[in-house]
Amino acid sequence: MEIKKFGVIGAGQMGNGIAQVAAASGLEVLMSDIREEFTEKGRAAIARNLGRMVEKGKLDQGEADDILARVKTTVNLDDMKDVDFVVEAAVEREDLKFKIFQQLDHVCRAHVILSTNTSSIPIGRIAAQTTRPGKVIGMHFMNPVPVMKLVEVIRGLATSEETFRLTWDLCKKFNKTPAEANDFPGFIANRILMPMINEAIFCLYQSVGKPEDIDTVMKLGMNHPMGPLALADLIGLDTCLAIMETLYDGFKDSKYRPCPLLRKYVESGWLGRKSGKGFYDYSK
Ligand code: NAD
Repeated sequence: MEIKKFGVIGAGQMGNGIAQVAAASGLEVLMSDIREEFTEKGRAAIARNLGRMVEKGKLDQGEADDILARVKTTVNLDDMKDVDFVVEAAVEREDLKFKIFQQLDHVCRAHVILSTNTSSIPIGRIAAQTTRPGKVIGMHFMNPVPVMKLVEVIRGLATSEETFRLTWDLCKKFNKTPAEANDFPGFIANRILMPMINEAIFCLYQSVGKPEDIDTVMKLGMNHPMGPLALADLIGLDTCLAIMETLYDGFKDSKYRPCPLLRKYVESGWLGRKSGKGFYDYSK
């Protein structure tokens, strides 16, 4: 099956990054969100990113213009009726993803693969919302999408071999390196990463260290390119909390309980870079 038109649900930091790499690979992209101001913001982020690549000499202006021209936007999910493949990258809330997949199952043609960029929600649970569980799969990009090479491809119990193969090949078309994971909460990436970030937040909560010191220890001591608290701010603290909740709910193991400080920040609207404040201040 040839994929020409690619649908992206959600124009946030992940959605617009995925739209950019899909358009750069030559696909026509339709990116949706709930309000026009969000789709416009997503498209502006792509334009900014491409502009930076032109400045660095990685792309010429004509190519950048062509890539941007291939990204169309909509606020109406019904417009996904003629796409050949979908990746959902809306906020990390199970109830919301369930609703989106029910709608997509209704709108998209029967052969179309419905993938999700979820960080942690079991693929099987999302697939069960549809009449095509064999065509539902996890396609978990890393942040920032245009830069990071990895895509975790997650098989649900019902995911067909054909769906897996097509998704795997699409990752390669996007110039990414896929890695295969099975369907357990958090998959591989966030099963390992998020408890580490959560532990760094416990270190701050219990005054073991200040944010800068916690991050310096992990950067210089463990050779991580970014400290865990700066990375949490980049991911979004709401997303980090949602992932910890999924791990905790899924395994019922106290080692996955979210740090109370993480919950307090999220409840106070401190979501990291996207809100201007998290463990660090981004207001300037
Ligand atoms: P974000 O908050 O930047 O963007 C989410 C977007 O979804 C928002 O623009 C929101 O308006 C939109 N949205 C909400 N309801 C919608 C609907 N019904 N239809 C269409 N759009 C809708 O979040 P993000 O960081 O881009 O995360 C998106 C998904 O990607 C989540 O599932 C998250 O777990 C996953 N993810 C995030 C990261 C990361 O580092 N942030 C990494 C990998 C995967």
